[in-house]
Amino acid sequence: MTRILTIHDVADASHDRRVLITGGAGFIGSHLCDRLIEGGAYVICLDNFSTGRRHNVEHLVGHPRFSLIRHDVIDPIAVDVDQIYNLACPASPTAYAADPVHTTKTSVLGALNLLKLATENGARILQASTSEIYGDPQVSPQPEAYWGHVDPTGPRACYDEGKRCAESLFFDYARRFGTRIKIARIFNTYGPRMRGDDGRVTSNLIIEALRGTDMTVYGDGSQTRSFCYVDETVEALIRLMATPDGVEGPVNIGNPDERTIQDFAGVVQRMTGSSSRISHRPLPVDDPRRRCPDISEATRLLGWVPTISLEAGLALTIDYFREELVREPGVREA
Ligand code: NAD
Ligand code: UDP
Repeated sequence: MTRILTIHDVADASHDRRVLITGGAGFIGSHLCDRLIEGGAYVICLDNFSTGRRHNVEHLVGHPRFSLIRHDVIDPIAVDVDQIYNLACPASPTAYAADPVHTTKTSVLGALNLLKLATENGARILQASTSEIYGDPQVSPQPEAYWGHVDPTGPRACYDEGKRCAESLFFDYARRFGTRIKIARIFNTYGPRMRGDDGRVTSNLIIEALRGTDMTVYGDGSQTRSFCYVDETVEALIRLMATPDGVEGPVNIGNPDERTIQDFAGVVQRMTGSSSRISHRPLPVDDPRRRCPDISEATRLLGWVPTISLEAGLALTIDYFREELVREPGVREA
């Protein structure tokens, strides 16, 4: 059944830029909430708190232009909004594989529910898609025109195929109903407010390094990723939302500074001054060999180029995890 929120539920009806952020209590979503509140928007943060945390947006609770709603996007919702950022979906391989059927439902039913809402409201809607659309790419760097190389039956498929289906739904809604869509294909993003226990490489390696336990690199570490600091990802999302109707994307958002995971682990080790050793575990099934964005479209359409170096972004992230280990010392303890 559709959950209907009247404008009284979300307070300040007079505000002219009401933005719904699904997954707003998550890592990227909570930074987006901050930026949009700073910019004067009325922000409705919707989350089922599966991987997100109230703690990430606690400082906004009570703000006159902020509302926090517990809701699952697989169920419809009705609320008056001008813009929707659809970020609801677990992003870490450990988290999305924990309940793969719900992950697929989140991407597919979530997209359907929110596209319907956007269409009814005449609102713009931005989909947080992913570099996983490209699967294990046979082309590098990956341009948006590349169709990808995805295993449709493997353990990552719930995420990859769910996000691919969401993209197709976005384009179908735009073609059939004139829905005002934008699609961002986000590459690996890192920074403060990542969960220490979500299994991603940045949080895992930093916590291991700070604790002085073995830093675990999967496989031989020759696989690559390109890491973008969260503030820069958020800036690109906001710029994409501000593009004129008809600029739909998909647009790659990521930092083209490609590193092997072995190299990345070495940088974390040096920057934390850790005495940890680097040890190896088997590579997970379907782990992509390479990941590097071609960002010419983002630069052309958004005037956006990431400028925060890996070392500068990691310094801020390491500081954050030092504090987290004091706040929540048991995080990710074996
Ligand atoms: P995250 O797990 O921290 O945030 C996802 C948020 O969505 C969480 O707050 C979670 O509780 C919420 N959520 C999950 N399922 C939901 C549901 N069914 N209904 C309502 N809320 C739900 O992850 P993140 O890194 O902040 O990623 C945000 C978005 O960006 C995701 O859609 C992800 O696929 C996309 N993305 C992230 C990255 C990255 O490197 N962080 C890369 C590519 C794409
Ligand atoms: N990885 C690793 N050690 C870890 C966690 C991940 O070596 O503790 C590897 C993983 O196998 C992958 C890369 O780091 O090759 C990035 O993994 P992550 O889960 O952060 O993101 P994704 O695979 O979705 O890009």
